[in-house]
Amino acid sequence: MIDPFGRAITYLRVSVTDRCDLRCVYCMAEDMSFLPKAELLTLEELDRLCGVFIRLGVRKLRLTGGEPLVRRGLMTLVQSLGARLGQGLDELTLTTNGTLLAKYATELAAAGIRRINVSLDTLDAGKFAEITRWGKIEKTLDGIFAAKAAGLAIKINTVALKGVNEDELDTLLAWCGTHGFDLCLIETMPLGEISGDRLEQYLPLSLVRARLKTRWTLDPTDYQTGGPARYVTVRETGRRLGFITPMTHNFCESCNRVRLTCTGMLYMCLGQDDQADLRRTLRAPGAGEAELADAIGEAILRKPRGHDFVIDRRRNRPALARHMSVTGG
Ligand code: SAM
Ligand code: SF4
Repeated sequence: MIDPFGRAITYLRVSVTDRCDLRCVYCMAEDMSFLPKAELLTLEELDRLCGVFIRLGVRKLRLTGGEPLVRRGLMTLVQSLGARLGQGLDELTLTTNGTLLAKYATELAAAGIRRINVSLDTLDAGKFAEITRWGKIEKTLDGIFAAKAAGLAIKINTVALKGVNEDELDTLLAWCGTHGFDLCLIETMPLGEISGDRLEQYLPLSLVRARLKTRWTLDPTDYQTGGPARYVTVRETGRRLGFITPMTHNFCESCNRVRLTCTGMLYMCLGQDDQADLRRTLRAPGAGEAELADAIGEAILRKPRGHDFVIDRRRNRPALARHMSVTGG
């Protein structure tokens, strides 16, 4: 699949649920209304759609959400997708808040998952509870170490938040080095109403990077995932450090991905509203693989050149009304 700007689409991110057991302040409002279960694609439908994407050239698949591990029966999807590894699919992976990893890490590894991303914004239990509104840090830490014990490589995702964890990023970097984890820092993106002030949260990573450089040697690396992160290697720990800077750096030129929601909407860009309704095609009487492939191909031709995130400063409104938990970040 090649889009109109010559980018090969080889990476599909699948949000398997919009639900979550946490309510991170930058991601969700406290009183979220979630989709009725009837709106969701079944796990079989998700598997079938993923199969079509793989036949069309997708090599890497990431399950995300919401919190993917809260979707009931998810392991059956993980197993059926895992069986596609080496049959067109090169990598199956997952982004999780870690709360259920202690329960599932071994099964994930057994299904063929080798690397996962775990979101962790702080090592302080009190701050963790504040950021997630009610989360318990022990659950996430237990999950992270269970995943490590199961042999999974771990990248920690940390959203840089002004006045919240900015004084801790140095400690987090050291902690990741000690435990053998990569770290990826993310700037907050203006997605969805969150009942807080977005501008108050925003911390430019250019500033964070300058601060980290006073203590760590950040060596340039040509490591690239085709994604938005720009990486360096931390000489003192030997681990990678990534920066995702949607607000200060445009990462669209190398974009290789599209996003499927749990209701079967295909978003060609995280930062734009255009979508294709694959559920309708999937459920149309008599529709088969060819119709799905056509619908996907037609959507890829609409992939825009790039996003244009802006915060509506006057009214403090997000650039897009949908939450990150819909498209999975
Ligand atoms: N629940 C899982 C988790 O937290 O890892 C997967 C879904 S979550 C939406 C995926 C990633 O998006 C997380 O690393 C989270 O920190 C990040 N995220 C959520 N809302 C964001 C926002 N408004 N700006 C930047 N990153 C955000
Ligand atoms: Fe849930 Fe992940 Fe959003 Fe936090 S960032 S509320 S864990 S979906």
